[in-house]
Amino acid sequence: MAQKFYNFIDGEWMEALSGETTENRNPAHWDEIVGIFPKSGKEDVKKAVEAAVTHREEWANLPVPERGQILGRSGDIMVEKKEEIAKLMTREMGKILKETRGDTQEGIDTAYYAFGESRRLYGVTSPSELPNKAIFTITKPIGTAGIISPWNFPMAIPCWKIYPALLMGNTVVFKPATDTPATATKFVEILTEAGVPKGVINLVHGPGSRVGEAILEHPDIGVISFTGSSAVGRRIAEVAGKNLKRVSLELGGKNPQIVMPDADIDLAVEGVLWGAFGTTGQRCTATSRLILHKDIFDKFMDILIGRTTELKIGDGLIESNDVGPVINESQLKKILNYVDIGKQEGAKLALGGNRLSGGNYDEGFFMEPTIFTEVKAGMRIEQEEIFGPVLSVIKISSFEEAITVANDIEYGLSSSIYTNNVKYAMRAIDKLEAGITYINAPTIGAECHMPFGGFKNTGNGHREGGKWPYEVFGEIKTVYIDYSGKLQKAQIDTDINK
Ligand code: NAP
Ligand code: MG
Repeated sequence: MAQKFYNFIDGEWMEALSGETTENRNPAHWDEIVGIFPKSGKEDVKKAVEAAVTHREEWANLPVPERGQILGRSGDIMVEKKEEIAKLMTREMGKILKETRGDTQEGIDTAYYAFGESRRLYGVTSPSELPNKAIFTITKPIGTAGIISPWNFPMAIPCWKIYPALLMGNTVVFKPATDTPATATKFVEILTEAGVPKGVINLVHGPGSRVGEAILEHPDIGVISFTGSSAVGRRIAEVAGKNLKRVSLELGGKNPQIVMPDADIDLAVEGVLWGAFGTTGQRCTATSRLILHKDIFDKFMDILIGRTTELKIGDGLIESNDVGPVINESQLKKILNYVDIGKQEGAKLALGGNRLSGGNYDEGFFMEPTIFTEVKAGMRIEQEEIFGPVLSVIKISSFEEAITVANDIEYGLSSSIYTNNVKYAMRAIDKLEAGITYINAPTIGAECHMPFGGFKNTGNGHREGGKWPYEVFGEIKTVYIDYSGKLQKAQIDTDINK
């Protein structure tokens, strides 16, 4: 009998009010049910928000360092449970154990960052333009935060959002992706074990179209932090815009790796292998475009195709495998459809392109690492996010052309250039329209204390990581204290041109 999991509302583990459930399955062995989860709806969200509103004051009244202590403790618990979490995550979404350990580690690092930040929530003080007057800022919680997360980083992304939301004194209603509810449940258990009081963190499982929409529409949710597709991001911005809710959006990417002729070729091949096929290409920062200089094109492609052929595809729980399955059948179909589109557009399928079959492969959703050459700028496989192990290679003749191709895209998340020429490196840093630029490193590999997010349609200008999300979850109050004992009129009494 598969394990049953629950929503967590007002400190109680409970079924969906409707009693409906969904199965969470392992994409490497689709017969294996990881757990049975509540399929919640609007009424469950309503109940969760009620709890979150009821417990706002008590959480907001705790001194920030005390909130920090609790969050830090949750990091300690996560350290103890790292291996257990990593295995569960691999079972529910497929990526290899090395990566699910890394995903969990990002959560741990983010917990400890929040602990440190709890004694560093500095405001601004400034001299006043008037005598006998003090001015400074403090930051207050917004109230209740709605957190909506995707399946590809089931621990790291919820942590990026929930730690800052909680430290800033907000209560939380958390809707994880339907494909990864088990890791989310572990996270909420850990927060609770660490001492986050009841009603402060509420977990509601269920489809985006029901639970997600109910979070967007709820008048008592003041801020929404979302990571996912651009299509859903647009929808969230639209609804939140009508209700004047604050929203932080982290959306898609179509990230380029440029390789110049002077680069260390073996290093650049390792970079693109990891960038394109790590997490089976299902990262917002995945390298989906290789922009390769014509002078090294043939040599580079020979090595890359050889190395890609050596990648071991299979169950992520087996340590010797390099690449796990794709998340589910509909995503696999979407990726295979892009392979057809690429062929129709006239790109050349240089490697892969098929679903893997036979033996254990038939139990899950495995796909060959796929490389298209003769890809032209503007083709759909060059412009649209595929979110799978598919690399489009574009041949260019100059640095200028490389930058033009890299930038001619609606997204702007990550970017990379391999070169040993400092002029190319510095000009790429200046010109690449992306929130992240790597020099001689792949497009993936963000560190938790640095800003993470993108230009253009990758988001709406906010950043996660480091101190930046703390701004998303706080309201700034400016305080003026006049101890002159008389009415002082700013601007009127201080006109220096008088
Ligand atoms: P998605 O389909 O947009 O789903 C993301 C989350 O939104 C899920 O929890 C989903 O619930 C929920 N949702 C769906 N429809 C909704 C609605 N109408 N209202 C409110 N919530 C709704 O994205 P995904 O397929 O999980 O993830 C892949 C995408 O995420 C890619 O585009 C990728 O680039 C992006 N991503 C971006 C970053 C970044 O930081 N920039 C990081 C990782 C991933 P269900 O699971 O129930 O559908
Ligand atoms: Mg699953």
